[in-house]
Amino acid sequence: MRITQVTTYVLKQRTESAYLGKLDDGTEPQADPGYFVRPPWRSLYSAHMETVLVHVTTDDGAEGWGEALAPVGPEVVAAIVDRMLGPWLVGRDPVAVRPLWDGMRDLMRERGHLVGHQADALAALDIALWDLAGKAAGLPVSQLLGGAYRTEIPAYVSGLPEPTDEGRARLAADWAAQGASMVKLALGKGIDADLATYDAVAAAAPGLRIAVDAHWVYTLPEALELGGELDRRRALFFEAPMAPEDIAGHRDLACRIATPVAVGEAMRNRYEFRDWLDRRAAGLVQPDVARTGITEAMTIAALADSRHVPVACHHSVGLGVALAAGLHVSAAIADCPFFEFQPTTMPFAQRILRTPLTAGPTGFTLPQGPGLGIDIDHDVLNDIIKEG
Ligand code: MG
Repeated sequence: MRITQVTTYVLKQRTESAYLGKLDDGTEPQADPGYFVRPPWRSLYSAHMETVLVHVTTDDGAEGWGEALAPVGPEVVAAIVDRMLGPWLVGRDPVAVRPLWDGMRDLMRERGHLVGHQADALAALDIALWDLAGKAAGLPVSQLLGGAYRTEIPAYVSGLPEPTDEGRARLAADWAAQGASMVKLALGKGIDADLATYDAVAAAAPGLRIAVDAHWVYTLPEALELGGELDRRRALFFEAPMAPEDIAGHRDLACRIATPVAVGEAMRNRYEFRDWLDRRAAGLVQPDVARTGITEAMTIAALADSRHVPVACHHSVGLGVALAAGLHVSAAIADCPFFEFQPTTMPFAQRILRTPLTAGPTGFTLPQGPGLGIDIDHDVLNDIIKEG
């Protein structure tokens, strides 16, 4: 079997309300020019649901689907696939997934491109190759990875996209009533404001385990103060407390609080995760499979396992392909306590699938068919491209 074609699909779906909801001043982010910042966070966000899918076909008519997490600038990832990685893959045997990963890594490594959009492009192709390899073998990807530890994957509800604590508390109570046992708050709005939100949610939904995502905004002294308060409240985990390049700061924090320090969505490869794990700077690692690919996520999981650190895969604005890939990886990792359930992106994720994934606030069911176990609806893809 040989790869004959690699095609990219840049998708932009308009949403009624932006991912993570309104801005703190209660206004909706402007859809045009498309990208904006949510102060006090510093990253660019899109008012649309943006992603890039890759489609790999072979000379015997098989196909595999991949996706890169590309919430901003999916065209950049598509260009890397179209101009560099895709042409290199054509003519090669798709089931040699790990050698192909090594080959794609080597193409650009001396240029520093094991990170960023290049790594995202590699991730998308790697997912498509695992999908193809699974279909060729007639086995789900999780079986190719060594087998599933679980077919039901517990979830935490990510984000309570309401502008006020009253609204967030109400939403938390709603999720708890639907069976949710864990929720993650999108915070980093200042220590007092974060604790006020935490306490409002805890009061509205007693028994709910609560995690805090600080979106990289705090200094070490601030993170220590907030971390101490989270310890007293027995928080589930404390995500992205400081700048994502500050390994030493996170190590100092992780040594001094009991709440697990969670990082990983900003990283793409084993070398980055190894440095954090070696320095005991993370108590929970969160690779996003649509940024690492499946091959690298499993390698990262083995590194984490050797340091007795659990892995909880990140998932945000990825669609159904990224979601399915994340679920297969989550099933195939021994110490994987939960996966991220994103209520606002789920309708978009499911829209491209002929058969929706079983997903809800309590967890996900591992897809059982060959490969990723999903069936992409080409008509819907074409509709989305036309709408965009
Ligand atoms: Mg996060």
